[in-house]
Amino acid sequence: MGARHAPIQGRYAGGMEVTPYLGGAATSSVTRQAAKGAPVFNRLALPGEPNVAEGDWDGKTVWDVVVLGGGPAGAAAASHCARHGLETLLIERKRLPRDKVCTGMLMGPWAHDVIGSEFGSVPDDILVAPKYLTGHQIHVAGTTPVAFPWRTPLAWRKDLDGWLVEKAMARGARLWQGARVLSVAEDSETYRLRVARGRETRVSLSARFLIGAEGAASPLRKTLFPELKVRYSTPLRECYEGSLALDADYIHWFFPKQRPRPRFNVNHKGDAFVIEGSGIPELRPDILRTLSEYGFSAAHTPQLRDGCLIALLHAELTSGRFRPARGNAMLVGDAGGLILPITFEGIGTALYSGRLAGEAILAAIATNRSAAELYLKELPPVIHTIDRLVKLEAGVSQSAERGPAALAEALCSAYQETAVVG
Ligand SMILES: Cc1cc2nc3c(=O)[nH]c(=O)nc-3n(C[C@H](O)[C@H](O)[C@H](O)COP(=O)(O)OP(=O)(O)OC[C@H]3O[C@@H](n4cnc5c(N)ncnc54)[C@H](O)[C@@H]3O)c2cc1C
Repeated sequence: MGARHAPIQGRYAGGMEVTPYLGGAATSSVTRQAAKGAPVFNRLALPGEPNVAEGDWDGKTVWDVVVLGGGPAGAAAASHCARHGLETLLIERKRLPRDKVCTGMLMGPWAHDVIGSEFGSVPDDILVAPKYLTGHQIHVAGTTPVAFPWRTPLAWRKDLDGWLVEKAMARGARLWQGARVLSVAEDSETYRLRVARGRETRVSLSARFLIGAEGAASPLRKTLFPELKVRYSTPLRECYEGSLALDADYIHWFFPKQRPRPRFNVNHKGDAFVIEGSGIPELRPDILRTLSEYGFSAAHTPQLRDGCLIALLHAELTSGRFRPARGNAMLVGDAGGLILPITFEGIGTALYSGRLAGEAILAAIATNRSAAELYLKELPPVIHTIDRLVKLEAGVSQSAERGPAALAEALCSAYQETAVVG
């Protein structure tokens, strides 16, 4: 490894205080539902399940970089570090391939640029029919649907993320899956981690650089920023066999209350259709009424119902109250709150910030500066984009007062704006 970095200032500086790593599990009812729903999901016989091999453990305990979380953010960070010669360990809590509540649209330039440069073209068998969406349709109750074109690759996240992690491993990253970090300690030189592998094995590791890519409930974020108060939204997903009389080449966003929120969205994936949204419980009667026009009825039973969390950190990020890095530890993707407002698209910012963190580590080694400083220096384009979209969203809410047609038009242009950023 290269040059030594400056001692970390702050809570752990100079000491070896062991901070409990908060276990990784968000224990809300939605995540419990997710756990219950998983086996049923397999009945949908999803195509293309990459079988990610579990890395062998050769007793190595000293790493240049440890990345926590094997989603797009973690895969991008691990891939970038490994292909530049850093000894990189990727620790994923679940066994891969794992699914994630997500429409699975690879939407904007950030997603496409990082996939292209870091991973190569997405193989066709990773995508699910219709494989490429033609665009988005906005359905505001009481007005004609409006659409905008935006060609978007579509995947189940278990397939996409499995492929990304396989690629990171091909670049040299090592994967421990089904592994759980129990504690993180920090001194001026390294992060020391205690990790559970399986039921029996406990391993002590050290790493000079630590990347938190564990998604919205990031335990590392709680460890590094214990004072940060985080609000969450709890979107749900329901997967049904069959199809509705909606154009399967589009994602359909529904606004039954003639307001930007609550909303739900519907799209087709192979032999299934999926209903998602934060407002599903309160919109249940509206969903039934709205979708009955397209063949949906109370007799439809979901093959899977699960949920997840979204960390709502936009105000903290844009005000500067939360800067998602400290010392040589960085938070990327949803762990850093970098999901975009309006559509809540976050694969692009996850990939982009994951790569930024990898670049920051290489620059930190070369310049003897802290990785956090270098990462935060490059993050403003993402933060400014979030800020711009937050303001745009406020404008959309106001347009609801001018009636459903004005709202549909404002939503269409705001969703289009979110699709093209990056
Ligand atoms: C309903 C819905 C639809 C969406 N649709 C889209 C879309 O179409 N396009 C889009 O771009 N974005 C979409 N998003 C957002 C997108 O899903 C996220 O922004 C994206 O997954 C963030 O990637 P990530 O790598 O940061 O985190 P994640 O994808 O959440 O990955 C985190 C990983 O960390 C693992 N992990 C968790 N805890 C630990 C731990 N303690 N130790 C180790 N590993 C851990 C998890 O198992 C997981 O594998 C959607 C979100 C929702 C809720």
